Parts: sequence; C-alpha cells; structure tokens
Amino acid sequence: MTTPPAIRIDNLVKRYAGAKGEEGKLALKGVSFDVPQGEIFGLLGPNGAGKSTLINILAGLVMKTSGSADIWGFDIDASPRNAKRSIGIVPQEIVFDPFFTPFEVLENQAGFYGVPKAQRRSAELLEAVHLSDKRDAYARTLSGGMKRRLLVAKAMVHAPPILVLDEPTAGVDVELRRQLWELVTRLNREGVTVVLTTHYLEEAEQLCDRIAIINHGELIANKPTRELVGMMGEKVVEITVDRDLAAPPAHAAFKKSVKKGDRTVEITYDKEAITAGQVLGLVQDMGLVIEDVTTREADLEDVFVQLTGA
Ligand code: ADP
Ligand code: MG
Repeated sequence: MTTPPAIRIDNLVKRYAGAKGEEGKLALKGVSFDVPQGEIFGLLGPNGAGKSTLINILAGLVMKTSGSADIWGFDIDASPRNAKRSIGIVPQEIVFDPFFTPFEVLENQAGFYGVPKAQRRSAELLEAVHLSDKRDAYARTLSGGMKRRLLVAKAMVHAPPILVLDEPTAGVDVELRRQLWELVTRLNREGVTVVLTTHYLEEAEQLCDRIAIINHGELIANKPTRELVGMMGEKVVEITVDRDLAAPPAHAAFKKSVKKGDRTVEITYDKEAITAGQVLGLVQDMGLVIEDVTTREADLEDVFVQLTGA
C-alpha cells in the first residue's frame, strides 16, 4: 500500500475579484500536485507567482475559485475543521497583538484550537525556538527574528503533522536563517511534513527533498531536488583567448559555444560526456592560447531561469 500524500492539490484555480467591471487577477490557473508525507517540500516561484495564494487557500484564508485540496486526507470544503487541525501555517506577514507575551501568544492560540490545558506545551515550544528567556516579554519588544521564531512556535501549538512556512527567511539575517532551518530540519526529523516557499534557491536545494516551481499561476516543475538539479547536467566554461575571435570555436563535443566579447567565449558542455580539461584541450588544438578560464556548475538558479524563461 502506498502512503497517502500529506497534501493533495487538484486543479486549483483562484481568480481574485476585480475592480468594478474588470476581470480580476487569475492567480492560480489549475495547479495540481501532491506533497508526500515526511518530506521537506519546497514551493518556489518568483514574486507574484501565486505561492501565497495557494498557501492561504490551504489555511482557509482565501476562497478558491474551483478545484479541490485535501490536507492529511481531509477535504478543505467537506472537513474544514479537521483540515485546519492538520496544518500549522507561518504566514508571510508578521502580525501579533503587541500587548501579549510570547507565552500568552501560544496559550491563546492553543485555546483557539481547543487544546486542553494539560496537553499544552507552550514552555516546550518556547524552548524549541530559543525564546524561553522572552517568555514574559511583550511581543512588541521582540526583534524581527524572534517574532518569526515565535510564529513557528505558534503554528505548532496544536501539534499538526504538517507545517507550512511562507517565505520564512525573506529579509532575515544569516544567523536567524540558520536557526530557522535547524528548527525546521529538527521538526522534520521528528516526523513533521514541511512545506516552505522561498526565493533562496540555494537554500531550497540544500533543504528540500522535493521542489515544485510555479510561475504565473502554473506549475512548471515538480521533482525530487536531485533530479531537478540533475536536469542541468551541464557545465559552463568561460574562456578568454589571446586574440580576437572571428567566430566562437565550434566542436561536436560542445553543446553550445557563444561569443561573449571579442576574445571571450562561453562554452556549455555535458559534464557526463567530457571534462573541463578536455574542453580546454580542444580549444587549444584550434591554435588558440587560453589566457583566462572560469567554470561553474549549473545550479537551481539555472534550472529556474531555463524553466521560467525569467
Ligand atoms: P507570491 O506569493 O508567489 O508572490 P501571490 O499569491 O501573493 O504570489 O500573488 C499572486 C498574484 O495574485 C499576484 O499577481 C498578486 O498581485 C495577486 N493577488 C494576491 N493577492 C491578491 C488580492 N487579495 N487581490 C487581488 N489580487 C491579489
Ligand atoms: Mg507570497
């Protein structure tokens, strides 16, 4: 038997209401994908792609236009309460009542979810997000990073099997980012399925088991991270030679050869088929003297640019 997905999204469409007499923005154009249980799932896409819209539909904050979604097997229309209990969401925007303390924020949220006093774990959650010493401080006195961590704790008060973070590291410093990822990785190891949206491709590449990419409200990729990166089995070498080039050096072993300047050429090659050394050797065999070389690995950024044409 296969494990059912943590989240199933089927042909989700969202058109926002437009101004009077105008068509509203079509933010999701029929998006379908599953989030497998136990994974860290990355939802990537440029600004305005529809990531927050999708997450806010799951959170019950935005009404979908059509399509369906299940959270932990609960249809968001037929079983909205169970669906909501199964997911904890860290929204993109930070909002707190400034006059509550972190401990109270968590207690209030637990109360909102009907978690009995005996089962609450506010102190433990504050510990987990390194905020025990701020337990009784007013939320307004917390730094941006502390607020972000408090939001993660707040999303976890009802011990949901799924945690969703919408751009948790946008505008966050390096140290906090590291702490946040440590926390996310730990929760995931403890069995929590994690969905996160991010702009930081490198981060997604390191953290996520699987990555889906959306652009203009459409899903354009959904693959295990390794496969997505592997899709670009190509490497790029930029070579500067000792004289002006009439044409870029061509060879059957090069996938692409493009002049970048009078003496500079960018050669793309398949790293499974040929090495950088062999590429340089072939160029030298054409009678050119190489004065400078840089190579780089294709990364998610390349995949992203290739897929979105951005
Ligand atoms: P992302 O989170 O990927 O940056 P969003 O889901 O926030 O993208 O936005 C997707 C598109 O929907 C954008 O064009 C945005 O301007 C539009 N949009 C988002 N929220 C609203 C809203 N409340 N009303 C109208 N349009 C909206
Ligand atoms: Mg967003």
